[in-house]
Amino acid sequence: MTSYRIALIPGDGIGPEIMAVAQQVLMAIAPRFGLQFAFETLLAGGAAIEATGEPLPAATLTACQQSDGVLLAAVGGEQWDTLPNALRPERALLGLRAGLGLFANLRPAAVLPQLIEASPLKAAVVSGVDLLVVRELTGGIYFGQPKGIFTGEGQRRGVNTMAYTETEIDRIAHVAFQAARQRRGQVCSVDKANVLEVSQLWRERVTAIAAEYSDVTLSHLYVDNAAMQLVRAPQQFDVILTGNLFGDILSDIAAVLTGSIGMLPSASVGAPGTPGLFEPVHGSAPDIAGQDLANPIAQVLSAAMLLHYGLGQAAAATAIEQAVTKVLDQGLRTGDIWAEGTTKVGCRAMGEAILAAL
Ligand code: NAD
Repeated sequence: MTSYRIALIPGDGIGPEIMAVAQQVLMAIAPRFGLQFAFETLLAGGAAIEATGEPLPAATLTACQQSDGVLLAAVGGEQWDTLPNALRPERALLGLRAGLGLFANLRPAAVLPQLIEASPLKAAVVSGVDLLVVRELTGGIYFGQPKGIFTGEGQRRGVNTMAYTETEIDRIAHVAFQAARQRRGQVCSVDKANVLEVSQLWRERVTAIAAEYSDVTLSHLYVDNAAMQLVRAPQQFDVILTGNLFGDILSDIAAVLTGSIGMLPSASVGAPGTPGLFEPVHGSAPDIAGQDLANPIAQVLSAAMLLHYGLGQAAAATAIEQAVTKVLDQGLRTGDIWAEGTTKVGCRAMGEAILAAL
């Protein structure tokens, strides 16, 4: 029996509803794979502001740091939007990323045959798409110095700096190559090396790291071409490796290919042996909170990513993914993915169906 400490952060809005489903799924899968989970439910976001006055209480961060993995739902809501920046729910996310040293963001985008009509692109273009964007999360132009708005020569000048050290490039490249090993063995590194020196170093280091992964094929694309290829022929991609800014944009393009925000999980990971953070791509959906309308699948698939990328339990993760596929095959849909000819169910019923399929 392998035991893990899992930190659960239900957060705000639909968070508690979808987290309840994901926790039940983890409890159900555990005995089948010889696993044991000790769950600790923690406060963050608006719920933490109400209880403690701050979005990320020190006790929450400490418990996350001491866990084997953190499963987060979502934080935020209108009632906290007027608070000063440092006290807003979203600060909890920044604090968790920094406090856990999460430098890699993994965003899978798979177009499921059952939901292909939800994609804004033609079925022939998106059929079979199954890709993973690996985005550098703590470097690049969002953090580079100098940054700011400076005054000189009679006008203001806005400045940001795109910078990557070799260490930053190498560690994110390893994440991408290792992920590719567990998938179809292809990494496409995206940069702008025809214009940017920072990208030239990026390309040089990624190529050097590739030598350690002879079983993985490496290709390179300029970011403008990559954006075009993602909508023109997205089936060509397995793992897309890229920096912070390019990854921010490309991961949203990849997400929209699937057409359904309630289905998309994500992972943020740091150094090997440290806990990762696993969460749906969507927000707290306050407009449907508390009405049993939320789609719990992104949360359930985030729990599967926790098993796969956080705990190295790929077989248990696959079992969860298969249960989700089975329920979709049965024609069950929450409102966000409902279409003519399928059966509309609520969050709880969807959860029960996934449990039954397990
Ligand atoms: P959102 O993702 O919460 O909602 C966008 C739309 O998608 C809404 O109509 C919502 O009902 C729907 N939706 C989202 N998830 C769904 C699900 N699982 N099932 C069914 N429908 C779903 O984005 P928003 O409305 O821009 O933001 C709402 C709040 O969430 C804001 O406070 C925002 O700051 C916060 N937010 C948090 C995170 C996070 O915690 N990581 C991410 C994005 C937004």
